[in-house]
Amino acid sequence: MIQTVNPSNNEVIKSYQEISDNKLQNTLEKMQFAFEEWKEKPFVFRSSLFRKAAEVLRKKREEYSQLMTLEMGKPIIQSRAEIDKCVWVCDYYADNAEKFLTDEIIKTDSTKSFVTYQPLGVILAVMPWNFPFWQVFRFAAPTLMAGNVGILKHASNVSGCSLAIEEVFTEAGFPEFVFKSVILNSSRVKDLISNPLIRAVSLTGSVPAGKSVASAAGSQIKKTVLELGGSDPYVVLEDADLSETVQNCVNSRLINGGQSCIAAKRFIVVKELYDKFTEMYVDFMKQKKMGDPFDETNDLGPQASVKLRDELHEQVLRSINAGAKLLLGGFIPNMKGAFYPPTVLSDVKPGMPAFDEELFGPVAAITKAENEDDAIRLANQTVFGLGAAVFTKDIKRGEKIAKEKLNAGSCFVNQFVRSDPRLPFGGIKESGYGRELSVFGIREFVNIKTVSVK
Ligand code: NAP
Repeated sequence: MIQTVNPSNNEVIKSYQEISDNKLQNTLEKMQFAFEEWKEKPFVFRSSLFRKAAEVLRKKREEYSQLMTLEMGKPIIQSRAEIDKCVWVCDYYADNAEKFLTDEIIKTDSTKSFVTYQPLGVILAVMPWNFPFWQVFRFAAPTLMAGNVGILKHASNVSGCSLAIEEVFTEAGFPEFVFKSVILNSSRVKDLISNPLIRAVSLTGSVPAGKSVASAAGSQIKKTVLELGGSDPYVVLEDADLSETVQNCVNSRLINGGQSCIAAKRFIVVKELYDKFTEMYVDFMKQKKMGDPFDETNDLGPQASVKLRDELHEQVLRSINAGAKLLLGGFIPNMKGAFYPPTVLSDVKPGMPAFDEELFGPVAAITKAENEDDAIRLANQTVFGLGAAVFTKDIKRGEKIAKEKLNAGSCFVNQFVRSDPRLPFGGIKESGYGRELSVFGIREFVNIKTVSVK
């Protein structure tokens, strides 16, 4: 049995029966049949279904938002924004998939040669709880529009969302078995990957899960796309607009209760601005209200579970023991539920957990740098490479740093890192490989086939 628990009060929401091995095999076989028909459908047909999926999401926006907030504690306003983003990605691929996957003629010595993009079959998605709808739709829209079918193994604590997502596809009128959610423990994922009917895997989650899924898929020569953790550095230079920069940095750190892969996690500030930045950062963080995630006036709900909250607290304590200064928060509040307050650590240095590890919660780590070069060196001194940002009034300088100096999949200037269906999204180093979204995302799970006619 898999149980979901409300992190605001630690009460059990619901229990779910895991799918049996037999039923799972049966589901995969039916999905393979569904694939054979689905891949023959024209793009206009698939697009019309994705537009209907967008309609279902719009219609049930409040119901799904409440479900997310109930299961993982996201502030309700952010849940609604997440559903809106899912609508966007459905419409985006409904509009653009055909253009992205049109055959491309290449002139060679043959009479005709071209590249064509053919679907692969049943694609497995292993997804995390932090953006329970968005992560799945950003996988499903390009993958299904390309003619594949998708099977979802969602994070266990959002099993309700997992089934609700399947309902979106059903209500939109997708043929049965084009998209299926299955409830199963992560210990069974390895076996599932080795099933011959699974053609490729997309995982969004932690580095350990990425390693496990990638090695299981690798041993079967199956392609993976991995979207893993991050410890995004935000470099603040001496000519940054301080107030705007601090607002960006605080807001990015607190998105989704601090539980976002591309939340700003390390703030690397040159010495000229360090004291002022730190002081203002603490002031802004103090204004953020924590409490019931259904109350629209709260900025921060609980963490997704007590276990994750306790692990975060332990990382904070280890950082303080290693010499970081605690300026705000850093304690377990006397509240029912998995709450953790906005927390600020300064004097953070390499070797401390707050610098070296991913802190998945509302904890900011501020580090002093000597100058621009030192700041870039510190920013890149990480096993991760998901996002990064730089703040400076000199746009040319910022653009050059973003383009040439920061080692990450997405580098933003004077704004916080965010995903956008029109732009590729993904990481380097231990943040993973492959890209989601845009034209790059839809070409991950296709056979990029060469056809040449004499
Ligand atoms: P997680 O514990 O790695 O879980 C992610 C998914 O993988 C869940 O469905 C989980 O199932 C499954 N899983 C866990 N261990 C597994 C294993 N050994 N083999 C196969 N499947 C396994 O991560 P999370 O706590 O849900 O999410 C937080 C992490 O995701 C953070 O590190 C965050 O940075 C990262 N993330 C990355 C992105 C990105 O785009 N790069 C986006 C969002 C989140 P169970 O729940 O059943 O264990």
